[in-house]
Amino acid sequence: MRYGYLKEDYKTAVSESLHKDNDFQEAIMEYQSFNGLKSTGVLDAATTEMMWRPRCGVKDKHNNTQDTIVHSYALLGSRWNTKRLTYRVSKYSQWLEPKVVDREIAKAFSMWSRHADLSFKPKKAGPAHIDIRFEKDEHGSHEPFDGPGNELAHAFMPENGGDIHFDDTEHWTVNSKNGTNLLQVATHEIGHSLGLSHSYDQSAVMFRSYFGYDPNFQLSRDDIFRIQRLYGPKTRNESSHDGDHNIDNTNTSPPSVAKDSELCTSKNIDAIFQMDENSTVVFLRNKYYKLLQNEVAPGYPKDISDGWPGLPGNIDAAFKYENGKTYFFQGNKYWRYRGRQIDGDYPREISDGFPGIPSNLNATMLWRNSNSTVYFFKGSKFWLYDPNTTPPVKPSYPKPISNIEGLPDQIDAALHHPNGNMYFFKGDKYYRVNEKSSTVDHSEPPYPRRTASWWFGCKN
Ligand SMILES: [Zn+2]
Ligand SMILES: [Zn+2]
Repeated sequence: MRYGYLKEDYKTAVSESLHKDNDFQEAIMEYQSFNGLKSTGVLDAATTEMMWRPRCGVKDKHNNTQDTIVHSYALLGSRWNTKRLTYRVSKYSQWLEPKVVDREIAKAFSMWSRHADLSFKPKKAGPAHIDIRFEKDEHGSHEPFDGPGNELAHAFMPENGGDIHFDDTEHWTVNSKNGTNLLQVATHEIGHSLGLSHSYDQSAVMFRSYFGYDPNFQLSRDDIFRIQRLYGPKTRNESSHDGDHNIDNTNTSPPSVAKDSELCTSKNIDAIFQMDENSTVVFLRNKYYKLLQNEVAPGYPKDISDGWPGLPGNIDAAFKYENGKTYFFQGNKYWRYRGRQIDGDYPREISDGFPGIPSNLNATMLWRNSNSTVYFFKGSKFWLYDPNTTPPVKPSYPKPISNIEGLPDQIDAALHHPNGNMYFFKGDKYYRVNEKSSTVDHSEPPYPRRTASWWFGCKN
């Protein structure tokens, strides 16, 4: 069985009894509940039939760290920080004329832009928000396609680039009962690109399985409700930007989703850390900003001295430890806070509290995969610090930042996000690093990207 229920193939699991009965039963129950079936744990005919339906390759279980396609962030409602998106078909299908593909893809986008406050503009060249490709088998660093049937396509959530891949071993068709309907599958995948996860509602476009050609295909109430929750309902005055009739309009600058602030014009940030699963805090001079998904939370910035009494401005680096305490670094000193209260007699010397770690740090980051490991960055080097080992810094450190392929020296701030990615900030740009490959992700638009528009929701 696939798609996050059991690691091995379903047939393998049954024929070779590789799994304990409990595991298998639980996996079946979970599968059934995801598919609107009665959650009995029994592999009955209805369940088997559902399993063999062709489907989308985006996974349903979001708590699996192995899942590179959709992260838990998706459940938090990852979305684009602009409502005017561009897309580009950069690799066409062997089954359909490019102009037919263009037309069907435009129709699929208009399914969403008709109901939500979104517009889509096709591009013929250059970078676009959403890159669309027809691919086969291995086609990148993520999971390969599986040939005809079963997985039809997959897509990445906005935080992971928003790209869409169709399995071109499927026979893609238009207005036909034969083959696989491109419009229907494209509409579903675009839903993921816009930030929607799978729906439990079988009538929804975002339901995970494909039920064959539907001549009256349209979004369900569930889809409309969910997309409007992310982007708001369609506003009347924007009908001229509808996906179906995109004209190259140079006046379509993205709307502001956050107030202009110093953060938007700043050449860099001082520090960033994850306050809790839903919010990130950014430090700039004597102010701090709370970020909600891709924008600044209302009521910010606030003074650092109000948020953390006793803490100076212009801090170098910060991280929140798994014990709930937050550490701030500046020059050769550090401060420890429990919540908003200073946690004892601080500041103290970095050399006392963090032996082996230098002063005047550039950045630090809690390594989320370990409860205790912290990364420190300075100049062209980084240190791994584990207080549970002696010494906390192994003799093999520091190591060159260039070990992380594509990442420059002298970064300003770093964050290991709950979505599993590591983000490095330098100047007014940021880099996303894949924790498994330790390289800067290849994506479209490429990294580094502008921090102000992708993180702070600033006007371009
Ligand atoms: Zn899907
Ligand atoms: Zn792919």
